[in-house]
Amino acid sequence: MLPDKEIQKALKALDLKDVNPGASDGRKWFGKGPLLDVVTPVNGSVIARVKQADRENYDRVILSARAAFSDWRQIPAPIRGDIVRQLGEEFRRKKNALGRLVSIEMGKSIQEGWGEVQEVIDICDYACGLSRQLYGKQTHSERPRHRMFEQWHPLGIVGVITAFNFPVAVWGWNLAIALVCGDVCVWKPASATPLIAIACQKIMEKVLKKNRMPPVSCLVVGKGSEIGECLNTDDRVSLISYTGSCRMGKHIAQVVGARLGKTILELGGNNAVIVTANADLDLAAENIFFGAVGTSGQRCTTTRRVIIEEQVYNAFRKRLIAHYRKVTIGNPLDEKNQMGPLVDSSAAETMMAAIKTIREQGGKITVAGRKLTGEKYPGGCYVTPAFAEVPADLPIVREETFAPILYLIRYSGGVETAIAIQNNVPQGLSSAIFTNSLAESEAFLSAMGSDCGIANVNLGTSGAEIGLAFGGEKETGGGRESGSDAWKAYMRRQSNTVNWSGGTTLAQGIQFE
Ligand code: NAD
Repeated sequence: MLPDKEIQKALKALDLKDVNPGASDGRKWFGKGPLLDVVTPVNGSVIARVKQADRENYDRVILSARAAFSDWRQIPAPIRGDIVRQLGEEFRRKKNALGRLVSIEMGKSIQEGWGEVQEVIDICDYACGLSRQLYGKQTHSERPRHRMFEQWHPLGIVGVITAFNFPVAVWGWNLAIALVCGDVCVWKPASATPLIAIACQKIMEKVLKKNRMPPVSCLVVGKGSEIGECLNTDDRVSLISYTGSCRMGKHIAQVVGARLGKTILELGGNNAVIVTANADLDLAAENIFFGAVGTSGQRCTTTRRVIIEEQVYNAFRKRLIAHYRKVTIGNPLDEKNQMGPLVDSSAAETMMAAIKTIREQGGKITVAGRKLTGEKYPGGCYVTPAFAEVPADLPIVREETFAPILYLIRYSGGVETAIAIQNNVPQGLSSAIFTNSLAESEAFLSAMGSDCGIANVNLGTSGAEIGLAFGGEKETGGGRESGSDAWKAYMRRQSNTVNWSGGTTLAQGIQFE
C-alpha cells in the first residue's frame, strides 16, 4: 500500500539518505552514537537509519550554540525576525514534501500533516511581526528626574525537547519565538520522528547560510534517557521547553528545577466537551468526532470525554455513532482516509489493554476499538476508534490513554455539575462546551468554570490557532507557547532606573546623611 518508490521519493525530496547523521552544530553534521532504525507505521518497514548523537557530539553542539548566541543577541530583533520570515517562506515552498514526511514517519493523515507544516508557516509570520513588538513597560518614578522602565533580554540556549505527535509544529512554535527573542535552540526530537527533524534542520541551515548568520539552530537526535538528560542537567542551557507525558514532565521539572533552570512544560491532557440540552447536537457531534479521532486520538488536545445532559444523551449518542460508522481508516497519504495508523504497534497494544480495563472496571464499550489486520493494514498499527459509556468516576477515565478512545458520561443537575465532572481530573489542557445558552457559556468561561488553559464555546478541544498562548494547567504543566505574550518565557526581564538629577534621592523617603 505504501510502495517503496513513494517513500524513496518523499525522502529524496527533502535530501534524506538511507543513513543520516543525526547531530548538527548548525554548520556540520555528525553522529557517533548508535544507529536508530526509523520505522514507518504506515506499513511497518524500516525506511532509513539515523546516526544518533553521543555525549561528545552533544558537547560540541552546545559549544557551537554558545558561540552563536554571543553573536545572535547583538543582531537587532527585526533582522532576526526577517530570518524567521525566510524560514516560513522555505516551509511554504516545501509544504507538500514536509507534510508527506510527517505522515510517513508518524502516521497522521496527510491533511493533518500539511496542517502541521502550515502551523510552522503561521508562527514564522507571527514571530516576524513580534520581532518589532517585544515591548517593555515604562512607569513614573517617585523620585524627581529619574526614569524607570523594563527591558527584555534573551536568555541564551533553549533546549527544545519534542513529542512524536507534533514532530514539526512544536519545534516551529519554540524556534520562531526563541529566535526573534535572541535565543538559540538545540532541538532533541522524539526517537520516532528523527527524519522530519533532520529535514527541518537542513532547511533552517540553508536560510542561515544564505544570510551569513550564526548557526542558531542545532539538532541532537538521541535517547531521552541520555541526550535528554544531558540537556536537563546542563547549566549552559537556560530554558528547557519540554513537550511530552506528565510522568516525564514531572521528572524534568525536578531535575531542571534543582539547578534553578527555567522550564516550559507542555504535558498530557484529558480534554472534555460538555454538551448541554441547549446545544446544536449536529454541530457538537461533528466537532467531537474530529476531536476524538483526528491524529488517531494522539493529540494532546484530543477529545477524551464528552459530558452530556440527560435529556439529549440518546439523541447525541445516535448522531455520534453515525459519524463513527463512516470513519475512513487506512494509508494516511490517501486523502480520503480520515485516520491513519497509530505511531507504533505498542501504541495499539496499549489501546487494547485500556479497552480491557474499561470493561473490567464496569464501563460499556459501545463502539469497539479493535486492531485491523490484512493486506490493507500492514505493520500492526491500524485500529478502529472506540467509544465507551461510563460513569464519571471510573478510574481509567482520569488517565490519558494516547489512542482514539472516547468516554461518554451522562449528567443532570445543571451546567455546574458538568463543569465539576470536567474539572475532576489531574490534567488541565483543553475544554469546550456546546450550548446556545449565554448563561451556560458564561458560567463555563467564568472563574467558577473550566480550570483548563484552553476553554472553547461551540467548537472542539483540538485545533488551536497560533495567535493565542497555548498550554494547560495542573498536571499539564502550566507552560505557555506560541502567541499572546508567551514570548516572555523565552526572555529575561530587567528593571532599569536612570538618575539624571545629578543628586541622590533615596526611594521610600529614606534619609541617609
Ligand atoms: P514522551 O514523554 O514519551 O517523550 C517526549 C520527549 O521526551 C521525547 O523527545 C523523548 O525522547 C523525551 N524524553 C524521554 N525521556 C527523557 C528524559 N529523561 N529527559 C529528557 N527528555 C526525555 O511523550 P510522547 O509519547 O513522545 O508524546 C505523547 C505525550 O506528549 C502525551 O502525553 C501528549 O499529551 C503530550 N503532548 C503534550 C502537548 C502539549 O502541548 N501539552 C503537545 C504534544 C504532546
